[in-house]
Amino acid sequence: MGLAQVRHWVFDMDGTLTLAVHDFAAIRRALEITAGEDILEHIAALPEAPAQAKRAWLLDHERGLAEDALPAPGAVALLRALAGAGCRLGILTRNDHALAKLTLDAIGVGGLFGDADIIGRDEAVPKPSPDGLQQHLRRWGIAASEAVMVGDHAYDLDCGRAAGTRTVLVNLPENPWPGSADWHFTDCHALLAAWQQRE
Ligand SMILES: [Mg+2]
Repeated sequence: MGLAQVRHWVFDMDGTLTLAVHDFAAIRRALEITAGEDILEHIAALPEAPAQAKRAWLLDHERGLAEDALPAPGAVALLRALAGAGCRLGILTRNDHALAKLTLDAIGVGGLFGDADIIGRDEAVPKPSPDGLQQHLRRWGIAASEAVMVGDHAYDLDCGRAAGTRTVLVNLPENPWPGSADWHFTDCHALLAAWQQRE
């Protein structure tokens, strides 16, 4: 199946649909998490009290980022074109569900996603686990081969590979993970142009 035939699209949010603003090094410093350690895994492994404190700090920090979110180049046009063509759209994010909605509203595409179309870190095992992507596939009642996972990070591509979907890397000038991406575009403008080649 070519990209132009894909009707089911799952997107990472931060850095894929929005300009990347998370300073993960600063977040790790603030939460006393060592470089290279997964932030969500670190928090999940803590006893309840410190876990809750770090979760609250992260949520508060990310709320500020959500309110100021800006769309990635071409992302809004891409989503509107796909929705206009009747494609199903989903979000799979390591961000919080409510903050994802806030972010999507901030960039003007909140109306394209129903509540169940958004899977955040509390509704699924975080990427690179395929859990959240598989939830979308089950809800839509489709085979993995009918969907694509679009993202800007190896986590997104590995998640797609593990679930058996096609994978699209965006927003990087070069592709550092050629074995994991079926398609690579420098931004969502280029992805939209490729999808529009369908006629
Ligand atoms: Mg991302």
